[in-house]
Amino acid sequence: MDFAHLPHPAPVPGETRAEAIADPGFGSVFTDHMVVIDFHADRGWHDARVTPREALTLDPACAVLHYAQEIFEGLKAYRHPDGSLALFRPLVNAARLNRSADRLAMPNLPEDLFVEACRQLVIKDRDWFPTVEGGSLYLRPFMFASEAFLGVRPAREYKFLVIASPVGNYFKSGVPAVSIWVSQDYVRAAPGGTGAAKTGGNYAASLVPQAEAISKGHDQVVFLDAVERRWIEELGGMNLFFVFADGSVITPPLGGTILPGVTRDSLIQLLRDEGLTIREERYAIDQWRSDAESGRLIETMACGTAAVVTPVGKVASPDFEFSIGSGGPGQLTQRLRERLVGIQRGTVPDPHGWVMPL
Ligand SMILES: *Cc1c(COP(=O)(O)O)cnc(C)c1O
Repeated sequence: MDFAHLPHPAPVPGETRAEAIADPGFGSVFTDHMVVIDFHADRGWHDARVTPREALTLDPACAVLHYAQEIFEGLKAYRHPDGSLALFRPLVNAARLNRSADRLAMPNLPEDLFVEACRQLVIKDRDWFPTVEGGSLYLRPFMFASEAFLGVRPAREYKFLVIASPVGNYFKSGVPAVSIWVSQDYVRAAPGGTGAAKTGGNYAASLVPQAEAISKGHDQVVFLDAVERRWIEELGGMNLFFVFADGSVITPPLGGTILPGVTRDSLIQLLRDEGLTIREERYAIDQWRSDAESGRLIETMACGTAAVVTPVGKVASPDFEFSIGSGGPGQLTQRLRERLVGIQRGTVPDPHGWVMPL
């Protein structure tokens, strides 16, 4: 499919842009353009275009506003030392978007079209690449039901868009250890639900427990399984790894209630590369606490595209509080973070062919 390129009547002036990308923070600065592709049940995907970034006009009966057929992805473009730009495993995001689409009764998007949409936008807005150390261009592909219809059934019209946001480090002060609040009253996902789909509704449901975590003085919330309220699942937007003194590592298994993170999958591979034992196995909250207290558990890391690999330093609930290791970043957490960031930024070899040059 060919992409039309619509001229921008008034791109952001160079000086304003330079200021915006010097220290962009996370998620509040956006580039000049966006990609839009339309879908109609009778026509399939059509009218791919790179257009000036602008507000969308939606009919008040637009299906997404009522029944929440919406899915999204998150990936980054990185600048390599030679000045070239690259994506990290974009085909994995493309495949995951389609698994999310299947669960939300939405149409699949050809995987090469997904990657091409990301590529076109990054190339168009390459001048928006942040100048800050550790910066990258965060891409947010998403799809929503755009049909104006109030009957309850899968919509017949959709839009797929990609927008881009220059980002610095997710956490302002480098990589502090985060403090985690155990949600007792709320769950993120139940068996048979939408936990494995990257859909806005999962985030909407996590906002109250996340706000509770903040109000108790913590950074993030950790969710337990919906059935026994005992097995650790994940944070609101990050997967978890537990590191033991004997060198082994556990991460909760994908079983429909956990989001299959690209970072999670990459870390599993990097751990295997190091010859470490990594088990995808259920791990209970009471076990986490006793292992941290006995010293059997020495590190816990949270991972996702936005914040990469982040150490968990402290865990609290109404009934208990415990620290992990020294309470700061552990050795394996730091090593894996450097390795992964190095591959993404082209400063260390990429043995698995994860990097896609643009
Ligand atoms: C996106 C997301 C993650 C992390 O996935 P990555 O592909 O590693 O960025 C983890 N959990 C949830 C709930 C997510 O939405």
